[in-house]
Amino acid sequence: MKVSGITLWDGSEELGPSNIEWDGDKIKEVSSAPKDTKQNYSVIPGIIDTHVHLIHYAGAGYVDYLTWPLVTSKYEQVIHGLAHAYKALKVGVTTLRDLAAEELQIGIRNALDIGVLDGPRILVHCPVGMTAGHGDLFTPPTIKDRRPTADGPDECRKLVRYWARMGSDGIKITTSGGVLSTGDKNEWRNYTKEEISTIVDEAHALSMPVAAHCHTEASIEAAIDGGVDSLEHATSITYELAQKAKKKGITVAPTLTILDRIVSGKLPIKEENLVKARNLHKVRTERMKDALRDGPTVVLGTDSGGQIMPFGLQLDEIRAMVNELALTPEQALKGATSLAAKVIRREDKLGKVAAGYAADFVVVKGKPWKNIDELRPENVVAVVCRGKLVAGQLPS
Ligand SMILES: [Zn+2]
Repeated sequence: MKVSGITLWDGSEELGPSNIEWDGDKIKEVSSAPKDTKQNYSVIPGIIDTHVHLIHYAGAGYVDYLTWPLVTSKYEQVIHGLAHAYKALKVGVTTLRDLAAEELQIGIRNALDIGVLDGPRILVHCPVGMTAGHGDLFTPPTIKDRRPTADGPDECRKLVRYWARMGSDGIKITTSGGVLSTGDKNEWRNYTKEEISTIVDEAHALSMPVAAHCHTEASIEAAIDGGVDSLEHATSITYELAQKAKKKGITVAPTLTILDRIVSGKLPIKEENLVKARNLHKVRTERMKDALRDGPTVVLGTDSGGQIMPFGLQLDEIRAMVNELALTPEQALKGATSLAAKVIRREDKLGKVAAGYAADFVVVKGKPWKNIDELRPENVVAVVCRGKLVAGQLPS
C-alpha cells in the first residue's frame, strides 16, 4: 500500500512531500516525492496516549462510576472497553496505555494483537496500591470482593511479581490520594519511601516501567526519589521538582483536560470530589506552566475513562498542552508520538513514520506541528493502524 506526494511530519520534523509505502504492519520505504500533490494534507505518526482507563461505562448518559463495575459482569465490561478504544482510534490514537489494568485489559490487548479484530495497540500497567490508597477507594469499603492491595515491602514485591506473571507491560502506583476516589484526601500519603523503592526495584528487575499517580508536592518528590519512570498528573509540581525529574529522565503527563472538565461544574460530580479538584486546579493554574519551562519531557496522557473524560478527546489534550503550558505545537506533537513511544518503551517500533517502523499513521488536513489549532477530529482524513485503514479514506 502506498500514499504519495504528501507532506510528512515524521515524529520529529517536517520532511516535505513524501511517498510512504507499507506492507502489512511495517513501513517499507519513505522517500521524497517531487512535489506535493495533496496540498492541504499531511501525514503524522499515530497518536500515543500514555494514560487511559478502558474499563468504564461507554453507553449514553451517566452512571455512577463507583457502582457500575460492581453491578456489571466482566464480560460486558470488556465490550465497553473495546468501544472506548475504537472511539480513540477514530481520531487517530493508535496506541493506548491503560494505567489501571487487570485481566480484562490484558485480554483486550492480546486479542487485538493477534488480529481477532482490527484495533489500536494496547499496553497495560497493572496497579500495586495500598489499602485505603487512591485505587482502593474506587471500591466502596463495604464491598468484600475487591481488587488486591499490597502493604509493606514484601506484599508489594509479591504483587509486582503477580502482575509480571499475568503479562503486564508495567506497574502503576499512586503516591498521593486522588480526585475521583472517595473517602480520601489529595494529601493522603500513599506508600512509604521503602514501599515505593521496593516496587520500583522489583518492577525494573522484571523489565517493567513504573508510572506514578501523584498530585501533591510531597507525593511528586516521593515518586521522583523512589525512581519511578513517569509522573502522572504531577498537578502541584514546582520548578525545583520539575528540574529534579528532568535530571533523572522522568517524564510528566499533565492530564490537563480532565481536571478542566471536572472543575467546570458541568459534570455530575459529588461535592467531595469537586472540592478536591478545585483545590488542585487552583495550584496547577498558579504554577505548572512556569514549573515545566525547560523542564522534563511532557507527554500525552489524558486519563480518559468514559464519562468524566470521554475517549476521543485526545486531540483536545494535545492542544491544551500548547495553550495551557506554552509548549510549541511541535513539542506537544512529539509528546504525543515519538517521545510518548519512548515512555512506553516502544521507540524502536512506534511514534515515527520511517522505514522499519510499524504502519501507524494519520492523514490530517493542515500542518498541526505549525498550527496546533488545526489538530481537530474534523481534520482527521484517514487513520492507518497496524497497516490497515481503520477510519476515513486515504487520499487517492
Ligand atoms: Zn488515571
